[in-house]
Order: sequence, then structure tokens, then C-alpha cells
Amino acid sequence: MRTIRTTGELRAWLGNARDEGRTVGLVPTMGAFHAGHHALMRAARAEQDAVVVSLFVNPAQFNDAGDLAAYPRSEDDDAAEAAELGVDVLFAPPESEIYPEGFATTVNVAGLSDVLEGAERGPGHFAGVCTVVNKLLNIVGPDVAYFGQKDAQQVAVIKRMVRDLDMPARIEVLPTVREPDGLALSSRNVRLSSADRARAVALSRALQAAADAAATGERDAAGIRAAAATHLAGVDAEYLAIVDPESFAPLTTITGPALVAVAARVGPVRLIDNAVLQPVPVAT
Ligand code: AMP
Repeated sequence: MRTIRTTGELRAWLGNARDEGRTVGLVPTMGAFHAGHHALMRAARAEQDAVVVSLFVNPAQFNDAGDLAAYPRSEDDDAAEAAELGVDVLFAPPESEIYPEGFATTVNVAGLSDVLEGAERGPGHFAGVCTVVNKLLNIVGPDVAYFGQKDAQQVAVIKRMVRDLDMPARIEVLPTVREPDGLALSSRNVRLSSADRARAVALSRALQAAADAAATGERDAAGIRAAAATHLAGVDAEYLAIVDPESFAPLTTITGPALVAVAARVGPVRLIDNAVLQPVPVAT
């Protein structure tokens, strides 16, 4: 595996891969790899001839300078893990390579970017995500780009951007990888104290309660939400919402697949998680 830091060098490498007729997979990341990242890399390795993993902690998507400063960074370990998984290129550019002086363009998906994560983290969050993902798709030109369902709203926003702007890449979404007790893996989990780590399981418990309620026939979103909310007493919940998985419009009644999304502060760490609810069919 080679680590590449400039767009020019990456394009030259990809030009050769394309000349050889190889398909290309891209896994965009902010590093501090865990088993969720590994699953995306494994899928890309299994499905594509050439695999590029990008590692860029994107300042444009952080609304909180403290969060950006505290974001875990471990490039040497990340590179070793990516190499072990058979990744061909780790693209780890400096900030000046992505945002050179005079950079002035922003890509924004209106509406979808303004609710839940967008409302909590500010309107610039998803604009920052979209702008950097658009750049990565332009730089790499992958056949398939791989994302995690863990960041469900990010997936919805990126899919909309790709559709609206006729971007040629296919977006593939992989399931959330969890700890044995249900906690969704996140690079931020390393910042949880042991007491906070124990409390953090509240998020996945709440989602499980919502799924159980839906599975036993509850279709009223308020009822499902109430079942979930009882598990969040020990954390500082920011939102618990039941929405359409594509438009993120709030739902009052569950008649098809619905997304239950939660965000909470656990000590100094902000965690998010989600699950797709399936209503039980109405007996006829
Ligand atoms: P990040 O480095 O946190 O920006 O994440 C890079 C990619 O990994 C994104 O597509 C995330 O959705 C995905 N990801 C993060 N955590 C998980 C997880 N627990 N399971 C599956 N994918 C994940």
C-alpha cells in the first residue's frame, strides 16, 4: 500500500489503474479506524480491482473547534490496518491540498441538510461534508463509493447530491458495526471514560426498544418514541426522531420503513445512532 498526499500523484496512479481497465472503489474516512471502517474497506476490496481510502479530518464539517481539536488522529496505525486489509492507496492530503488559498465553492443540499444533525451542528455541517465528498469523487472518479449506515443522514444527503448533480459514482451503504453490547462503533468512543462508556449503551437500547415496539404492532410514532425515550434518562439527549429514511420528514404513523435517529451527549462526547423500523403487516 502506498500513502499519497497530493491530488496530482493520486490522479497519475489512478490513470494507470484505469488504463489497465481496473474498477476503482473509494472509502472516504476521517481516520482513527475501527471495525466499521474495516467493513467498508473489506467490501471495497472484495468488489473492486483498486481500492482508495481517503483519510482527511475535514475542518469544514466541524462546527465546534474543540471537537475538531479533540478528534482522534492515528495515521500510522490507520495505514498499517489499511495495508493489512489490502487497500492499494491511502490518500491522506494536507488541508492545503483540499482547501488551497482562495477556495470559495460550497455544495449544499437544501432542506435535508437543515434538520436533525444539520440543526444541531449548524447548516455548515452537511455543506462541509458534501463539498469534501464532491471533491473526493471528482479527484478519484470511483465506480463505487462506500459509506456506513451509522451516519444515516449523511448517506441521505450524499445520495441526493449524487442524484441531483448527475455524479457517476454508485453509492453503496453498509450496515452499522456494533460492540457486543450494542454500542455503535465510532472514532469518538475512545474519548469515553469507563463510566460514560457504560452509559453510552443507552442509545442502542433506545433504538432496540423502538424496533421492538414497531415489531409488536405499534404504528404511532409518538408511542414508539416514548418506548425508546425511557432508555435515555441517563444521557443528555439532543434529539430522538422518527423520520422518512430518504426525505427525513417527521412521521406520525409508520406505514413503511422508517428511520429512528438519536443523538446524545455522554460526558464530553457527542454520539449518534439510528435504526430502520419495519412495521408489521396489517392482518387482512
Ligand atoms: P468517519 O471516519 O467517522 O467519517 O467514517 C467514515 C465512514 O465510516 C463513514 O461512511 C461512516 O458512516 C462509516 N462508519 C463509521 N462508523 C461506522 C460503524 N460503526 N459501522 C459502519 N460504518 C461506520
